[in-house]
Amino acid sequence: MSEDRTRGVALVTGASQGIGRAIAERLAREGWDLALVARRAEVLAEVIASLADSGVEAAAFPCDVADSSAVEETVHQVLERWGRIDALVNNAGISRDALLIRMKEEQWSQVLRTNLDGSYHFIRYVAPGMMKMRAGRIVNITSVIGQIGNAGQVNYAASKAGIIGLTLATARELAGRGITVNAVAPGFIETAMTQDLPESAVKELFERIPLRRLGQPEDVAALVSFLLSEDASYITGQVLNCDGGMVMG
Ligand code: NDP
Repeated sequence: MSEDRTRGVALVTGASQGIGRAIAERLAREGWDLALVARRAEVLAEVIASLADSGVEAAAFPCDVADSSAVEETVHQVLERWGRIDALVNNAGISRDALLIRMKEEQWSQVLRTNLDGSYHFIRYVAPGMMKMRAGRIVNITSVIGQIGNAGQVNYAASKAGIIGLTLATARELAGRGITVNAVAPGFIETAMTQDLPESAVKELFERIPLRRLGQPEDVAALVSFLLSEDASYITGQVLNCDGGMVMG
């Protein structure tokens, strides 16, 4: 990590709301300078404004993670500003649910392009700088759905299972350069993504959570923060669940 007053520069995607915003808030409290990515510039600006008292530098980089050249340009801009990216958190994600036989090509490809390609794009363009520094932390947000599947979410499950494979292979490639790569698998977290689920589905999910509460974005942010810390320097190629015990073992 850098030797100045901050803990380094962290790039967080999907930082305009939900889990990504909670990660940004947590990392700001811990002294990370922040490059925040999402598509909606005006919402990112609100997040940046809310971090004004934290004493760290935070800047918005509006970008569609599915667009490879836009990601390349974004990483270039972040490096121009700070000269380094010490940590990358690939959190941006969407769901477009439908049963397999009713799912449209567009629903399939939108989810794969955002969730899986988006994570690949950022790793692709951030990794070279980390390799030169011989240090870095990458955390990819997957999901329990990528581990156990869910009816109506073949696109989402495939994208999140893909992120696990991406994490494991990248961890092996980059370990020799001192870069750790891990995935965090949240369970049911209360955000905009889950707020429209029918009450019956929430009740059923609740029954499957041994800790008997829904997760909060801050629960996930705490785990991400740990994985970015010095204390996690001997952990790589892992999928860590943050799910109240939904998936065990
Ligand atoms: P939200 O829908 O609340 O937030 C999604 C974020 O991703 C927003 O900031 C959105 O910003 C950004 N985003 C979406 N598409 C793009 C894109 N193409 N380019 C750039 N940014 C994009 O979701 P959550 O906070 O709930 O989810 C965050 C991550 O956690 C996702 O990867 C999700 O799959 C995962 N997850 C969530 C769970 C839950 O229960 N909530 C459970 C397991 C995993 P904008 O619209 O401005 O682009």
